[in-house]
Amino acid sequence: MFAVGHLALGHICGFATSKAFKINMNMPLVLLLSMIPDIDILIPQLQHRGPTHSIIAVTILFIPFFVTYKKKAIPYFAALTQHFLIGDLIGGGNMQLFWPINTQYYGMELGVKNPINMTLEWVLFTLSILIMLKTNQIATLFKPDHSNLLLSIPVSTLLLPTLRGFPLDVPTWLIPPHLIYTSIFSISITLNLLKTLKALRKRLFGSRTHSRPASLFELER
Ligand SMILES: [Zn+2]
Repeated sequence: MFAVGHLALGHICGFATSKAFKINMNMPLVLLLSMIPDIDILIPQLQHRGPTHSIIAVTILFIPFFVTYKKKAIPYFAALTQHFLIGDLIGGGNMQLFWPINTQYYGMELGVKNPINMTLEWVLFTLSILIMLKTNQIATLFKPDHSNLLLSIPVSTLLLPTLRGFPLDVPTWLIPPHLIYTSIFSISITLNLLKTLKALRKRLFGSRTHSRPASLFELER
């Protein structure tokens, strides 16, 4: 799948499990985890869809989080594992799903540019946007919350580079959802950066501002 399909399916799986287990999920973290396995595209030493797409490796890595956070870790585990258990299994293939126990390749190998895969990505994207709007999750992205800055990772590592033609060419069909996600996340990042800069300026120069007379009247007195 392309970045859009992974983000949408991760969001849907995270949302569904958080509802089922009555857990509040951190949406930017869920979105980030949904595409983290593809970080192997950016690391030349790693084979694409190799160990980062292994259910065994990811489950072992998640054990400390399950021990610490118990059922609160479920939406994040679901967002991370859907990437290869559903997304790349259908629209990718060639995954070392059970690395390191065996290094065989698994997947339907439908191809990311197959019309079925692209239609599925559009359906998942539409569903994800509808959930964001219906549950007002979209508003949380525009509120001051430092965790929204996590979205800068999917935007800078996969969404924007994918639109530039690297590492994968996005078919014209899928450009609109990529642009919509990129725009929503970029607005969220910008608003939070501005808020952070404002707080920093207040901390650095706040005392000088307070030492100034509040008004001319105060000066004359
Ligand atoms: Zn992948």
